[in-house]
Amino acid sequence: MTGGREGIRLRRSKQREVILEELRKLKTHPRSDELYTLVRQRLPHVSLGTVYRNLDRLQGEGTAVEIYCGDFVRYDGNVSPHDHFMCRVCRRVWDFDARHGDSPGVPAESENQAGFQVESQYTMFLGLCPDCAAS
Ligand SMILES: [Zn+2]
Ligand SMILES: [Zn+2]
Repeated sequence: MTGGREGIRLRRSKQREVILEELRKLKTHPRSDELYTLVRQRLPHVSLGTVYRNLDRLQGEGTAVEIYCGDFVRYDGNVSPHDHFMCRVCRRVWDFDARHGDSPGVPAESENQAGFQVESQYTMFLGLCPDCAAS
């Protein structure tokens, strides 16, 4: 009998594994609802809330990061420092390598920046992706 607590725990870690796998497969940094659509093809009974909770947890563990794109949040399974490009038409986001050497910017120690806690730093390039530029 595999029911009860052990079964639930197994199911939960399996869900998280599938969510992370799907997230890492995508190169366009999905929103939670986009990721949900993909995950549901493998786990038909999963809910959007479950996907959302697991994304939260993956972030807590440091295996996923949020990218803020205006009013909405996208997720990234690549947690190493890198920059992004957002297409202003289709709103998809790609990894974009724009680092010259690996010296991330250090915030200046000025008075009006005192009290802010930096948690991540990347450059967001905006423009047209090849698909949108062609149409
Ligand atoms: Zn585009
Ligand atoms: Zn990325």
